[in-house]
Amino acid sequence: MSNKILTVDDSKMVRMIVTRTFQPFECEIFEASNGADGLAMAASILPDLIFLDITMGDMNGLEVLEKLRQTEALQATPVIMLTAESGNKSIERADQLHVAGYVAKPFKGEQLLAQANQILNLQLLVAAQ
Ligand SMILES: [Mg+2]
Repeated sequence: MSNKILTVDDSKMVRMIVTRTFQPFECEIFEASNGADGLAMAASILPDLIFLDITMGDMNGLEVLEKLRQTEALQATPVIMLTAESGNKSIERADQLHVAGYVAKPFKGEQLLAQANQILNLQLLVAAQ
């Protein structure tokens, strides 16, 4: 079964990096540019992994994370925080809400892959003949 990966980040560049990173693998990639859309999308697709930005316009990533954890179907969904902040209260709160990991910005695709590989069984797409 194909893995579903959702990226919630207000930066188009970040969403593009995630999408490009996972394109060679058998997975479906979804994107949301704000917290509200991210929550709605998560509830409808039930992703296997979420990359979640902390600093966003409408609702920050921690608020999104809290709402995910309050939703039964998304309570245990692995979430990796994409963060520019480190060693502060955001991280502490995110830890309480059971995140699967952190990737500090700016990051490279390999860092996302390394984290994702601990959670998903990613298979390279076999080239069509
Ligand atoms: Mg942001």
